[in-house]
Amino acid sequence: MSPEEFRKHGHQLIDLIADYRQGVGELPVMAQVEPGYLKAALPTSAPAQGEPFEQILKDVDQLVMPGLSHWQHPDFFGYFPSNGTLSSVLGDFLSTGLGVLGLSWQSSPALSELEETTVDWLRQMVGLSDQWSGVIQDTASTSTLVALISARERSSDYALAKGGLQGQGKPLMIYTSAQAHSSVDKAALLAGFGKDNIRYIETDEHFAMRPQALAAAIEEDLANGLQPCAVVATTGTTTTTALDPLQPIGEIARQFGLWLHVDSAMAGSAMILPECRWMWDGIEQADSIVVNAHKWLGVAFDCSLYFVRDPQHLIRVMSTNPSYLQSAVDSKVKNLRDWGIPLGRRFRALKLWFMLRSEGIENLQQRLRRDLDNAQWLAEQVRNAQGWELLAPVQLQTLCIRHRGDGLEGEALDAHTRRWADRLNASGVAYVTPATLNGRWMVRVSVGALPTEREHVAELWRNLQQVVQG
Ligand SMILES: *Cc1c(COP(=O)(O)O)cnc(C)c1O
Repeated sequence: MSPEEFRKHGHQLIDLIADYRQGVGELPVMAQVEPGYLKAALPTSAPAQGEPFEQILKDVDQLVMPGLSHWQHPDFFGYFPSNGTLSSVLGDFLSTGLGVLGLSWQSSPALSELEETTVDWLRQMVGLSDQWSGVIQDTASTSTLVALISARERSSDYALAKGGLQGQGKPLMIYTSAQAHSSVDKAALLAGFGKDNIRYIETDEHFAMRPQALAAAIEEDLANGLQPCAVVATTGTTTTTALDPLQPIGEIARQFGLWLHVDSAMAGSAMILPECRWMWDGIEQADSIVVNAHKWLGVAFDCSLYFVRDPQHLIRVMSTNPSYLQSAVDSKVKNLRDWGIPLGRRFRALKLWFMLRSEGIENLQQRLRRDLDNAQWLAEQVRNAQGWELLAPVQLQTLCIRHRGDGLEGEALDAHTRRWADRLNASGVAYVTPATLNGRWMVRVSVGALPTEREHVAELWRNLQQVVQG
C-alpha cells in the first residue's frame, strides 16, 4: 500500500469508525453468532495475490461486525468500562502510523520523554506524591508480574544474580485476598513462587481483606520457617469493587518487611476524584501500584500505568545492557526497556496524551461522577424493589444484584439467576455479566460505558424487572 492509497483508505476507515460510534446504539449489544461462524466464512489460507481494499472493508462489514459484542454501546453493562475515548483512538492510530519503536531513549527520544511526562501528569491527577515514578506497561497482569518479581528479588537479596529461586533456602510467601484478580495468581506462578506459597487471606462481610488475618498468617508462616515476601492488596476488586484497607495492611507490610503491591487496575481511575481518595488511605506505604488507564478512564487499550517508589531497584531487576543498545547519553536519560519485561515498546503515551489534552481533567472528572451517580440511582431502585437484593456495597460504578422472587434459594435461585441473565443478554437490549459470589450466582452490572446516560440505566432497570418475570 502506497502512502497515496493509505490516504484514501485511511479516510474511509475513519468514516467507518465514526459511523460505527454514532450508530452502535441501534445494534444488539451482545454478538448473536455461534462458535466457529467466522472461521467457516473465511478462506483457510492467505490469498496468493493482493485484494482490493474495498473487498476487505466489505468483509469487515459483513463478517466481522456481526461477531462483535459492543463495548461502546450505551446499553453495555458487562465486565468494566474500557477503551472508549475517540481522542485516544487517534493517538493510537498516530502511534502505529509513525512506526517508531522505543528500544532506548535514542531510538526515538520523544517516545520516552512523552511517556515520562504523561505518566507524571497522571501521577498528579490520582493524588500520588512525587516520591513515585511510573511507566506504561501493556496490562495490569504484566504490572503485577513485574511487582512480584521485584518483591522476590528484594526478599532474596537479588537471587537472580545467583541460583535464582532454586538457590533459596526458605520458600517465599505471597499474601492476597480470596477476592483478588486471577492475574495475581498467574503472576505468582510465573514469578516462580508456586501455588503452595500463595495464601488467600480471609475477607470481611464487605469482601475486603481482614488485616488481623493477614498478620496472623504471616506470623504462622514465620513460625513454620517460611519467608513472607509480598502482599497484594486490591482497591476495587473485580467482582464487587471491594476495598482492602491499605493503612493497616501497609503497617503490617512494613512491620514484617514485606513488599506491598496495590492492584488498582479498575478503581485507580476514580482517584482523579478527590472525594474518592479515601479509598487509597495508606497508599503511600506501598512499593508498587497498578492503574489501568485503559479501563474507566477511557484510554484505548492497552495502557496500564505501573508506579514504583524505588526505580533503582526496578532497573536493577529488569535491566540488561547489550552493547548494541548502549549510548553516550545513557547516564542522562531513562531507558524504559529497563522498567519492564519487553525490550521494544509502542509509542503508547501518544494515546494518553491525546486524551488528556483533548478532554481535560475536568471533563474526565465529570464523566466519572456521572457514572457514580447513575450507579447510586440504580442501587436505590434495587434496594427499594420487592424481591431484589444488592449483595455488596456500591462504592463505585459496579452493582452486584440478584432477584429472589418468592423466596427462591440454593440451586433453584442459581438456575433462575442464570436464566434471566442469559435471556437479557441474548435479547440484545443490554449486556450484563453473571458471576459467582460466596458460591452463588448473581449478576454484575457495571455502569460507565462512554455513551451511557441516566436514560439508559433507567431503561436497563425496566428491562431487568421484565426479564425476571420469564
Ligand atoms: C481488570 C483487572 C485486572 C486485569 O487487567 P489486565 O490489564 O487485563 O491484565 C487485574 N486486577 C483488577 C482489579 C482488574 O480490575
